[in-house]
Amino acid sequence: MSTDYYEILSVNRNASASEIKKAYRKMAMKYHPDRNPDDKEAEDNFKSCTEAYEVLSDEKKRKIYDTYGHDGLKNSGYRGPGNAEDIFSSFGDIFSDLFGFGGGNRASVRRDGPIPGNDLRYDVEITFMEAVHGVSKEVQLTRRDTCWTCEGTGSRPGYQKQTCPTCNGRGQVVRSQGFFQMSSTCPQCHGEGAMVTHPCNDCHGIGLVEKTKKVALKIPAGVDTGARMRLRGEGEGGRRGGPSGDLYVVVHVQEHEFFKREGDTVYCRFPLSMVNAALGATVEIPTVHGKKTLDIPSGSQSGELFTLRNEGIPNLRGRGRGDMVVELQVMTPTNLCEEQKKVLREFDSLCTKQGQHQEQEGFLKRLFNEVIGKN
Ligand SMILES: [Zn+2]
Ligand SMILES: [Zn+2]
Repeated sequence: MSTDYYEILSVNRNASASEIKKAYRKMAMKYHPDRNPDDKEAEDNFKSCTEAYEVLSDEKKRKIYDTYGHDGLKNSGYRGPGNAEDIFSSFGDIFSDLFGFGGGNRASVRRDGPIPGNDLRYDVEITFMEAVHGVSKEVQLTRRDTCWTCEGTGSRPGYQKQTCPTCNGRGQVVRSQGFFQMSSTCPQCHGEGAMVTHPCNDCHGIGLVEKTKKVALKIPAGVDTGARMRLRGEGEGGRRGGPSGDLYVVVHVQEHEFFKREGDTVYCRFPLSMVNAALGATVEIPTVHGKKTLDIPSGSQSGELFTLRNEGIPNLRGRGRGDMVVELQVMTPTNLCEEQKKVLREFDSLCTKQGQHQEQEGFLKRLFNEVIGKN
């Protein structure tokens, strides 16, 4: 396979977002590991087209790729979508489009054969710190599970389904209208061709019963909002011997009062007194991993950034930790008492004496000359 993302998806370079999505959908359907078990080539192709889609469907990444190619992406921190079987994927909504939450459509359903259970989605909210360090949670989930009294057949034990009398087991009924023959789904058996004559007492013939179950979620360190975890077989139960669907857990991370994050980097504003900023200081900074000391040199200004290496968020795919960026916020003192004001005035006159105001005055003089002075 080519390494060019456009060639991989067989779209031209100015393809629209929907063309790209359509192309990816087609290829992902073809190469998806669920459809090609133990096929290494299909898996590689699946990975390549997923990577191509991930880049080209993201306006920012696509622009970087168009301008700087693969190296540009690497420099911007993009590391590819990882393993196709990663429990966490950042594929956005494409998978719900492709395989359908609540669709239960991974295999075509034979008329009277096994029916796989629907996939379900569960949204879980965690705190910022839980996302940083990972968390185990137990959630109670009520969903329709296979009825084990009838083993999902819907018939009372000892009874079999009977061929539907309306369609004679075909699942379709044919009506003649003049010259035309119209075929439609049988209204009595809904296309199954068979009917439950002695419904199971527990599920009333549906083959599924509501059950509440505790599910353990192990959310790894480094997740961010939108991360998605697939728990195989924890979705809705199957019927007539069909497998259970999967449970997709979608993570939402709460905002933090002090910390912000972008990818694996943590940002935080740190207030510092005017005096400490002027004289320099060693301060204790709260990080997501505890307290760290930071040397702030004398003469530091508001807005200056300091980076604490590896004090950010652990990478979800195990590639170390991000950094923490501290933005200095120099605090102007308020509510001064008379004595403090006196000292500051003395300080100010000292500055004038030492010519330290000249730089500012020079700037103002130039500004006035430029803008106002000429009139
Ligand atoms: Zn039952
Ligand atoms: Zn029928």
